[in-house]
Amino acid sequence: MEGCIFCRIVAGELPCRKIYEDELVLAFMDIAPINPGHILVVPKEHHTSSASISEELGGRMFHVGSRLGVACKRALDMDAFNLHLADGTCAGQVVMHAHLHVIPRGSEDGFHWNWRQKKYTNDDEREQVALKILEKLKI
Ligand code: AMP
Ligand code: ZN
Repeated sequence: MEGCIFCRIVAGELPCRKIYEDELVLAFMDIAPINPGHILVVPKEHHTSSASISEELGGRMFHVGSRLGVACKRALDMDAFNLHLADGTCAGQVVMHAHLHVIPRGSEDGFHWNWRQKKYTNDDEREQVALKILEKLKI
């Protein structure tokens, strides 16, 4: 896609530190890591949203991401990893070419997801929300 920075990396027009490549995905080092070893798994096809990614491609992204997470843990002496995907601007997506973050984590890394969890007022409120979602769900 014209002007897309990750399409340009996939096409070899912009540089990256490649970590893994196959016919479906390219994985490379993030230039601004949350922790050293932070990697992006990028589909070679342009998709703005994860929702248009096929099951095969999404499965490959997840598979490669989790294997890279294990490699990071072993190679960098980290304790865990996060797989993260931001879909949409207010979810934190900055590059509009869907991608999976692989973020090695350590118990002392000082990074915390800023999750402020709420509560449903009661079970009925949760049920109404569940029913609305199910009306729109297409798999
Ligand atoms: P997101 O906020 O989920 O869209 O994440 C975009 C990620 O892409 C950020 O973590 C950036 O640091 C990373 N990024 C942007 N440009 C490049 C680039 N040229 N090479 C590697 N990583 C990049
Ligand atoms: Zn793209």
